[in-house]
Amino acid sequence: MNFAKNLKCKECGRVYPLDPVHVCEFCFGPLEVFYDYETLGRVLTRERIEAGPPTMWRYADLLPCRRETAVDIGTGFTPLIRANNLGRLLGLNNLFIKNDCQNPTWSFKDRVVSVAASVAREFEFDTLACASTGNLANSVSAHAARAGMKACVFIPGDLEQGKVIGSAVYNPTLVAVEGGYDDVNRLCSELGDKYPWAFVNINVRPYYAEGSKTLGYEVCEQLGWRAPDHCIAPMASGSLYTKIYKGIKELTWLGLVDWRATRMSGAQALGCSPIYEAWARGSFTIRPQKPQTIAKSLAIGNPADGYYALKVLEQTNGAAAAVTDDEVIEGIKLLAETEGIFAETAGGVVISGLRRLVQEGRVDPEEVVVAFITGAGLKTQEAVSPALAPALTIRPTIDSFEEALGERQRSPASAPIAVGGERR
Ligand SMILES: *Cc1c(COP(=O)(O)O)cnc(C)c1O
Ligand SMILES: [Zn+2]
Repeated sequence: MNFAKNLKCKECGRVYPLDPVHVCEFCFGPLEVFYDYETLGRVLTRERIEAGPPTMWRYADLLPCRRETAVDIGTGFTPLIRANNLGRLLGLNNLFIKNDCQNPTWSFKDRVVSVAASVAREFEFDTLACASTGNLANSVSAHAARAGMKACVFIPGDLEQGKVIGSAVYNPTLVAVEGGYDDVNRLCSELGDKYPWAFVNINVRPYYAEGSKTLGYEVCEQLGWRAPDHCIAPMASGSLYTKIYKGIKELTWLGLVDWRATRMSGAQALGCSPIYEAWARGSFTIRPQKPQTIAKSLAIGNPADGYYALKVLEQTNGAAAAVTDDEVIEGIKLLAETEGIFAETAGGVVISGLRRLVQEGRVDPEEVVVAFITGAGLKTQEAVSPALAPALTIRPTIDSFEEALGERQRSPASAPIAVGGERR
């Protein structure tokens, strides 16, 4: 297992061997993978990473599994683009978009599942399972197919079609549970005691979570081995958000990038914003919520890593934002119309969350800001389609085309967004 040394309790610091366990027996705190940073500091260089494949596996030394036996579906090293159009509109001079729509199952979840599936296979599990808000089920199903493992994936009953089909096509045992994610998760925790399966985000969660660090590594490398000044990421359980920061911190510990006191901001949908709500109260105690939002991939009312996300918000002088469902749709459209990137609802949350933080004066116009877009829009078409202009429907004649075009040009909703944020 490379440089991974042991599991460590995040609360009491007790150390455990690298087994499929996730909570501390003494204090019930969550376990986290700990590495031999001393040896890593000597061995790992920028050149060694740059010589690796153009996927997340170029950072295999910093993951708890071996590259040679990894379940590799080509995840990661997704584009980091300079977003000048959107930046100008928001008043930010150095805005970048990390476009994680471009993963094999079209969300960042391929990063966490790649690690979880690899470790599960090393532990000789024959079944991959998960409690999912949608994207996770897609990724687990695909990785199980690739790994020759069985998959049993549990989703809330009211998911978008794109996410249901995006799992079903890989032919897992797909289980739609009456209820929301928090019900699905509770059920899966109980099932995990009964069935000898690798529930990627439950009993192998410490390994799973490590996959998200690769987003932090990639962004630093793609900025020319420089840490961003400010990140904004979506928060559901809070795992992704905290692990991006862990990734950036590790690179600075290892001397691969300079320390820049990167600020970490997080975004949620107002209809499911338990982390934002605690942050706004100045508290470290999460009050669970009953989710009510179109941002279903983020609809976790009782976030497992909420407390740690609040700690990162505090430590890094970051800020939290919560946006309405209308703003989620506006955010999706804004990103699409300015940068040509079609994100799912979680991306709309991030873009509108960033806009809100700029309006509140919490983002310096000169900061190097990275906005993490974590999933692709074709999976959540229901959310945005009512807000889009329909096709011009015409007969195949020039007259018919020009008539329809004239009508469309008289309707203000079809005008492109101008710099400054207003429609022309
Ligand atoms: C799962 C998910 C997240 C956030 O996940 P965490 O539980 O906070 O790690 C963000 N965006 C998308 C698209 C997701 O599917
Ligand atoms: Zn403990």
